[in-house]
Amino acid sequence: MTAGVAARPLKILLAASEAVGFAKTGGLADVAGSLPRALTRRGHSCAVILPLYRCARTGPVPVTPTEHRLFIPVGDRTWEGRLWRATLPRSEVPVYFVEQPEFFDRDDRSLGLGLYQFTATDGHKRDYPDNCARFVFFCRAVLEALRLLDFWPDVLHANDWQTGLVPVYLEEVYRRHPDATLREKYLHVHTLFTIHNILYQGRFLPGDMALTGLDWRLFNYLQLESFDRLNFLKGGIVFANRISTVSPTYAREIQTPYFGEGLHGALSERRDRLFGIVNGVDYARWDPATDPHLPAHYSIDAITPGKPLCKAELQRRCGLPVDERAPLLGIVARLVEQKGIGLLTQAAPAFLEWGCQLVVLGEGDPYWHRLLEDLRNRHPDRMCLTLGFDEPLAHLIEAGADAFLMPSVFEPSGLNQLYSMRYGTVPVVRTTGGLADTVTDCTPATLAAGTATGFRFDPPWPGAFRDAVGRAVALYRERPDDWLHLMRNGMRQDWSWDRSAAEYEQLYARLVVG
Ligand code: ADP
Repeated sequence: MTAGVAARPLKILLAASEAVGFAKTGGLADVAGSLPRALTRRGHSCAVILPLYRCARTGPVPVTPTEHRLFIPVGDRTWEGRLWRATLPRSEVPVYFVEQPEFFDRDDRSLGLGLYQFTATDGHKRDYPDNCARFVFFCRAVLEALRLLDFWPDVLHANDWQTGLVPVYLEEVYRRHPDATLREKYLHVHTLFTIHNILYQGRFLPGDMALTGLDWRLFNYLQLESFDRLNFLKGGIVFANRISTVSPTYAREIQTPYFGEGLHGALSERRDRLFGIVNGVDYARWDPATDPHLPAHYSIDAITPGKPLCKAELQRRCGLPVDERAPLLGIVARLVEQKGIGLLTQAAPAFLEWGCQLVVLGEGDPYWHRLLEDLRNRHPDRMCLTLGFDEPLAHLIEAGADAFLMPSVFEPSGLNQLYSMRYGTVPVVRTTGGLADTVTDCTPATLAAGTATGFRFDPPWPGAFRDAVGRAVALYRERPDDWLHLMRNGMRQDWSWDRSAAEYEQLYARLVVG
């Protein structure tokens, strides 16, 4: 294969805190699992580096230790670690893991112990108190790994706050390495820092600067300090050679105070280096023609009987009346403020009164759990609520629902609207971030032009959301032929990783030439 538009094949190391197949809490895992595979198909040489969490060590993909040992200073103590190795599922892409049992071998779903947070006795999730030390260790380990593996990437692609200090250490420590040969090699590594969700910044008390081993002079508002906290994400933003985020609209939004979560100034300062690339879909895992989680398969040319069978199965599984004509609305989301659950609970009584069925799958804040439980208890014959993480059910909802709701307050890229379109399930979304960049609102003009793929609303108000769902339900009931067009338009879209990878490739290539 050829290296697309890049002048030569590139070497890329993607550093992330999760990747699908090994550890996943959100969309970042999908990116870290899929982008390197797509880049490899385009002729580039990629590797991934992750922490060795317990779920990665004991998961379905075999991981093996290497002989490479790490000795990393964190504060006044040196911690020992080791590199392990595996390959990304269905590929030859190497994945390296940073083992440090005290830092990373602690996650256990049954005990409420996650990758970054644990569930406290009051049911709320709290950050681990040693997150700063854990990810200082990881960031430095990433840079040590280049030397140990003798893998010198053209681009070191760091992601989210957990790797925010990678560009900082590269600049401040490794490019000043006392060994001239190594220094030269580190000088040739370029960095891209991708923000997947600006809400999560890795903020720590100023005293934690001591854990980083970095000079205190960096603790200032133009570098690592933000609102009197050490801020890992800001480190990535300020020190990386280029910054990207996961959609062009989100790239613009985070430069504003409303979306920027306090970092809009740092971002607008570097806006000429900030880009937006929408995430892709792994169509090998998300294809209604082959999806192993579905009771029947279908495709754009043969939607029936497969999709109606999936709908019936979903209704049965959820204990709802099996009724082909009831508009079935689906949601799969982390139940957090970002996902617009407040809008949903306020607008949903109207949908349910119109005769819609509502299926919600998610887990998150107990507050939203309670509001959704109240709603379900008031409409048990129309609504099904599953609190938990259930991948097979997520696939069945994408296939069995007629419309998929994403009333997000903000949505950096969003994957579910892309899965929905591929599954012929019409997305109803708020016009924000990646939702604005991927869903075209259904109007008489876009319907006639064959470009309509869903329904959008802008103001974050329950009434606006209700009206958008109202438009969808009216089209579904009154103009089934137009509804079918809408489904087919969505199914035809290409939001594959190959498309995203081509954009990342251009970004990397421009970065390497300067
Ligand atoms: P975010 O990264 O903000 O959570 P995305 O839409 O980008 O949102 O990606 C979320 C991913 O996680 C999707 O693949 C979605 O299907 C999956 N997901 C979220 N919650 C659940 C759940 N409770 N059960 C199964 N899959 C889920």
